[in-house]
Amino acid sequence: MEFSRRSFLAATAAGTAAVATSALAGDKFGRDRDWTGEAPVTYPEVAWEVYDKRFSGAQGNSTLQRIWHGAGNDRALWCEGPAWMGDWGCLIWSDIPNHRTLRWSEDDGHVSVFQTESGYSNGHTRDNQGRLIAMEHDTRRLRRREYDGTWTVLIDSFQGKKLNAPNDAAVHPDGSIWFTDPGYGILGPYEGHKAEFELPTRVYRLDPSGKATVQVESMKRPNGICFSPDFKKLYVVDTGATDGPQYPANIILFDVVKNGTALSGGKEFADFRPGFTDGIRCDTEGNVWCGWGWGGPDTNGVRVHHPDGTALAFLHTPEVCANLVFGGTKRNRLFICGSTSIYAVYVNAVGHALG
Ligand code: MG
Repeated sequence: MEFSRRSFLAATAAGTAAVATSALAGDKFGRDRDWTGEAPVTYPEVAWEVYDKRFSGAQGNSTLQRIWHGAGNDRALWCEGPAWMGDWGCLIWSDIPNHRTLRWSEDDGHVSVFQTESGYSNGHTRDNQGRLIAMEHDTRRLRRREYDGTWTVLIDSFQGKKLNAPNDAAVHPDGSIWFTDPGYGILGPYEGHKAEFELPTRVYRLDPSGKATVQVESMKRPNGICFSPDFKKLYVVDTGATDGPQYPANIILFDVVKNGTALSGGKEFADFRPGFTDGIRCDTEGNVWCGWGWGGPDTNGVRVHHPDGTALAFLHTPEVCANLVFGGTKRNRLFICGSTSIYAVYVNAVGHALG
């Protein structure tokens, strides 16, 4: 499958862009812009809303681009789980309801299907050897893609009970994979299949030996996860608010202790009501970049937090942003899974993790 520029333009001319723009006409954050990329650009990028003068992440002469929206029946329904594969020269991400992962090639921007039968994978990351790690909803497991293209199942159960539906992961320098298991993939058929929960919603640490240990059991829906650049802190998103407004929509900050094998503490780092965040990534300065949405159009985008918890800035997008990743050779290009589109913007910041 390959999406031509012509088909892309034809599809937007047919009305998709027109519908989106009408609700935001004259928008000061530029959400109603011509997303085909054909319109002239005026700098600085207006999508940035800076809350705190300490923020330096907005690159004044770079523009927010929608680098992919698909065409016709090839459009995505719900994008998540981006991973930057610099050695492959591409971005990988999930289109969960369509049971596939997609690949955007940086050389010419074409998008093709990387994998069907993806197990309805959600999050992706890379281990310390650069191998792709997939968190699968339907098959309820973690898999690793080997250098020859085969897959190795890393974990699918704990103490004889099936995992719920792993969602996201972060890799520690010791090779352990810390992953969340909120179970969204077994709530219904859209992103997996309906099944009974056999285990609580948790955060696990999967040791390189294959042994898993429970690290967090106190969160409603542990979801996005990332380490601070010094690996002394672990940020875990709680998207409990999907179950009702009485539940959390925040990030919990833990101290990583015992040589990286355990956590202590667990205090609220930031709250995201209305709406909630999902995927998060740290830059090399320790700022936390968070997808945001579900609280109305003015929560659609990427919110950046200082390590002290302060909200520094917000990048407005026209769609809900679930997950994000830093990519490009310098890891200074932010790739955003925005519901049915992929957005990208060069920033004055460098991503901490490999992918
Ligand atoms: Mg997630």
